[in-house]
Amino acid sequence: MLVLVGSTLVGAALAGTTTVHVLDVGQGDAILIEAPDGSHILIDAGKRGPGVVDDLEAMGVDDLELVVASHPHADHIGGMQEVVEAFDIELYIDSGLEHTTKTYRELMLAVESRDIEYKKAVRGQEYDFGELHLDILWPGNVLLRNTRSDLNSNSVVVRAQHGDTCFLFTGDAEEPTERGLLNNGLEPCQVLKVAHHGSDHSTTSAFARAVQPEVALISTGLGNRYKHPGLEALGHLDAEGALVYRTDLWGILSVQTDGKTYEVIDGMPADPDMGWVPKDHLGSTGRTVGPSPDIPRPPRADAPSEDVPAETPAEVEPTEAPNLSGVRPSTGADEDVEDSRRGLIQRIKDWIARRRARRASKE
Ligand SMILES: [Zn+2]
Repeated sequence: MLVLVGSTLVGAALAGTTTVHVLDVGQGDAILIEAPDGSHILIDAGKRGPGVVDDLEAMGVDDLELVVASHPHADHIGGMQEVVEAFDIELYIDSGLEHTTKTYRELMLAVESRDIEYKKAVRGQEYDFGELHLDILWPGNVLLRNTRSDLNSNSVVVRAQHGDTCFLFTGDAEEPTERGLLNNGLEPCQVLKVAHHGSDHSTTSAFARAVQPEVALISTGLGNRYKHPGLEALGHLDAEGALVYRTDLWGILSVQTDGKTYEVIDGMPADPDMGWVPKDHLGSTGRTVGPSPDIPRPPRADAPSEDVPAETPAEVEPTEAPNLSGVRPSTGADEDVEDSRRGLIQRIKDWIARRRARRASKE
């Protein structure tokens, strides 16, 4: 679907570009990829509730060419049944590791009853969407067993490459996964979706050193009970010089590439010294967040699973139009590119406004 607004192309993926949106789903993951050929790929769908379906509809998604469920915890597949029931899906993949929950069972029944093609994700599988190439890096043929969390450790890990730009999506992978990936030979990758909401069970220094991320995207809920992201993980990212962007501080994070350069088109890097610190005012991020939630601080070490959802954290809304922070400045010379970029930014702003209106109407 293409909609012309003035001279600017709005309302669909810009031809020739890949845009990754880490949606703002609180403590969970949901990532939309707009591929250069117009395909839509969804990795995870956040917690139960219509939020992700609403967001995808607001973004002009009519069908999904590929859906990846990284692993069957409720903060990743809770909203998936609604997605499966709302959109035509060409292919659905997951790690093949089953979960005992009703959420998981009902989701898989929905996939079956909608006649969606299902596949187990295994290292070596590849998918192409125009210039965007996806490689499944994990799990391997043999699943990891007897880890701290087998569901997390067998998360589907996807590497997405468009020209010179790489994105690495890690689900809730943990240290054993990272070791496996390193043993298989892991190439550096500019944009890392940080594993497991920035937990210290992931993002070891060895992993961060191998990936050398320039941009690290963390999807996590403000003041979450797991105290994500962890200071160790943040420290390892900082040591590699990664700029860390967090959904709990900013909301949606969007990164766009034309295959030559990439740009963070929505989001602001967080202060590297700021770990799990919900504050009334986060000056260094350039945005104000609502009243500081009164949050107990449980021990972080062995939070068992995200299956018990935390209370929805305080809403985080930008107080004004977001500042735009390009990690690599766009060439700027090409006016069409500038127009496209402005169009996309406007689309995201419209989307945020719609979300805000929707939330307000529910209060
Ligand atoms: Zn999770």
